[in-house]
Order: sequence, then C-alpha cells, then structure tokens
Amino acid sequence: MNTTAPVALVTGGNRGIGHETARQLAGLGHTVLLSARRPEDAERAVAGMAPAVPGTLVPCRLDVTDADNVRALARRVEGEFGRLDVLVNNAAINYDTARRAVSVDLGEVRHTLETNLFGAWQTTQAFLPLLRRSPHPRVVNVSSESGSLESMSGGTPAYGISKAALNALTRKLADELRAEGILVNAVCPGWIATDMGGPGGDPVDQGAAGVVWAATLPDSGPTGGFFRKGEPLPW
Ligand code: NAP
Repeated sequence: MNTTAPVALVTGGNRGIGHETARQLAGLGHTVLLSARRPEDAERAVAGMAPAVPGTLVPCRLDVTDADNVRALARRVEGEFGRLDVLVNNAAINYDTARRAVSVDLGEVRHTLETNLFGAWQTTQAFLPLLRRSPHPRVVNVSSESGSLESMSGGTPAYGISKAALNALTRKLADELRAEGILVNAVCPGWIATDMGGPGGDPVDQGAAGVVWAATLPDSGPTGGFFRKGEPLPW
C-alpha cells in the first residue's frame, strides 16, 4: 500500500454517488475507505472496482447513525493510517417527495435527521482528530439544492430540512476549522440517476465529479461554500 497517498473515507460507498466518488478518488490514487452499512456490501463494491483503479480500496462497515461503529472505525483508521485526509459525508436517506410539512409524521423527520444531519455530524466529530493530522484536510458534505433556503418551497419536508441543516452545519464547521486549514464545503451533485434520484437524472459520474472537486481542492480553495459542479449555489 502507498503510505503517502491521501486517505479518504466515503460514507454510503456501496452504491450511487458514494460508490462513484470512491471509484473516482481511487482513480486519482487515493487510498479510499469505502464504507457501507453492511460489510458484505462494502466487500462487494471493492471487489467490483479494485482491479480497475490505481489507488487502494479498503472495505469497511460504517452505519453513520451508530456512534459506537463510528468511533470504532475512527480507531481502526488511526491504527492503520494515523490520519484522514478526506471525509465525504455522502450517506443519506428519504427523498420524501410524497410528504408535506403540514402533515408528515415527525418520527419520520427525526429518523431522517439521524442519518442526513447527525450521521454526518458525529462522523465529522469522530474523525476530526485524524483530519487534524492531515497536511491538506478536506470535508465534503453531500447536500442538495433541496436544502437551499433561497429556492425552498413546500413538500419533501424531512429531506429538504435535513439538507438545510446540513448546509448550516457546513458553515459552522468551516468557520470553526478555518484557522486550522480544514476546508469544509457542501456540494449538491445535481439530479443524478441513482436509486434515490430515479431515472432521468444525469449519469452518476457527473454527480460524483463535483464531490471529488471539493475533496481535492488546493489549500487556497474555498471553505464554507455550497457548490454544484464547482460553481457556487445560493444558500
Ligand atoms: P442512494 O443511491 O440512495 O445511496 C445512498 C447511500 O447512503 C447508500 O449507500 C446507503 O446505504 C447509504 N446510507 C443510508 N443510510 C446510511 C447509514 N445510516 N449509514 C451509512 N450509509 C447509509 O443515494 P444517492 O443518490 O447516491 O445520494 C448520495 C448523496 O447525494 C446523498 O447525500 C443525497 O442526498 C445526495 N443527492 C442526491 C441527488 C440525486 O439526484 N441522486 C440529488 C441531490 C443530492 P444502503 O445501501 O445500506 O442503503
């Protein structure tokens, strides 16, 4: 294994945009911890792409809602790599287009926030000591224009509010970590044809490209921003 290669962790790496982000980062030579809720899904994803990429792919189990699991993975990464260079908080659930804020079950909203907001939050907190040991630390919160307050309309309440909150978290973290050189940005991948996005969206490589852009920013790059395809989006 190349011990000088950047080490990246992608949550929800077994399918969709997370899977393609892991593939692209490994294609750039990163050592990618491809994580999935079920270890067999991570193993399968790595087995499917490892022969075709120059970087190293390491399968690992990570359910971002499971605090013990998050801490255990951070200990493993500390033991094996001693640092983390890139954290991609990609895992998310519940694009609830059939729901309305006036009537949605708040239990469903809380459940969505556990993954889409608190999952990313506790993963970032747990890996922060390892990011602080990186010479070029980057955090990418995979968000959505559904979370933009400027264009926010009714419907999709749990998802939209979870992404608005993730955007707010991005701003908080970016500001608190700016002096340490840790770049934290939110990225909307665009409408992408995945299980979540459904048919009709752009191909998954295009969605992942904007995530990889934010994961590989130079030290002079932005922090505390919201981007799609490398271009700023309104909050
Ligand atoms: P997807 O195909 O539904 O994949 C979601 C991934 O998240 C899966 O790997 C899933 O794992 C994982 N996941 C869910 N809950 C998890 C948990 N508790 N712990 C760890 N992993 C978990 O979705 P996608 O379209 O690739 O979306 C990826 C990101 O892009 C999300 O943040 C999404 O909100 C954002 N986004 C997508 C679109 C779009 O059009 N597709 C647009 C805007 C933003 P399992 O296989 O175990 O369920």
